[in-house]
Amino acid sequence: MAACRLAPLEWLASLTRCFCTAWLLASCAVMAHAADYSGPLFDAHLHYNDEAFDGKAGPHPPADVLSRMQRNGVRAVVVNSRPNDGTLALASSPLTRQAGVTVVPFVRLYRNRADYDSWFRDESIYTMVMAELARGTAAGPYRGLGEFHLYDSANANGPVAKKLMALAQEKDLVVLAHVDDKAIDLLMANTASKGQRLRLIWAHTGIGGVPVARVEQLLTRYPLLMGELSYRPGLTCDGGKLCPQWRELLVKFPDRFLIGSDTWVNQRWSDYDGLMKGYRTWLGELPLETARRIAWGNGAQLFGLGEK
Ligand SMILES: [Zn+2]
Repeated sequence: MAACRLAPLEWLASLTRCFCTAWLLASCAVMAHAADYSGPLFDAHLHYNDEAFDGKAGPHPPADVLSRMQRNGVRAVVVNSRPNDGTLALASSPLTRQAGVTVVPFVRLYRNRADYDSWFRDESIYTMVMAELARGTAAGPYRGLGEFHLYDSANANGPVAKKLMALAQEKDLVVLAHVDDKAIDLLMANTASKGQRLRLIWAHTGIGGVPVARVEQLLTRYPLLMGELSYRPGLTCDGGKLCPQWRELLVKFPDRFLIGSDTWVNQRWSDYDGLMKGYRTWLGELPLETARRIAWGNGAQLFGLGEK
């Protein structure tokens, strides 16, 4: 070793430096390892669409998607599928119970892709929702409506959108809405007359990248509003770490956020491990209790699940 050819004092100093560097590296490694959140996850935005599995065949049959959830520590999922058969299949599969995954079923408002653009004024969607609610699932009654989109926020005032939000409030169903910030105000206003406002999960918490200050304003204004964080622009910065503004917001509102995979296309199923790893990385930067809430506790509380 080079250090052995040095004079005794220099050798000692060099050894100390080496030791300190080694100790620091080891500590860093331990800290980096400890930084990943390792508890249970609640995936609050999952689709099991017919491209993944149509009931008979597909690249991602129940055994496949459940093993992805299981190996990633995902213990509960909000499932909503186009069509709803995917949700019914997961809810009734004995493999779901074996994997230790709790299905929280939502009624999707779409039978097919054409429904995306017209559900908010289409009476037949309301009829379909009522039939699904009456039928329920093998995992229990439906607990929510959505995910739905409103490409133009004014469509929040569509006649069927209004009826469905009123229905959600009346039946204590949670709504999963992929909308912009203006639509959050409109959806909430349309249900405000009945006192308690809508229990709404804001899918992506503003996929258009609405400023953090506006997110904070809405969270403050609507105590029942929660934000799901898939695809949220500006959430993570270099190395998948939380951007400072977002870290601050999550710490300030620890009981208002959820994580989700949004398996809207099959590629998201292929990436499922990476998506969950990404969440575990930044969750690990948060105080443990905050991480636990966002990862699991907020979803578990919203739907009355226990500890896992
Ligand atoms: Zn989605």
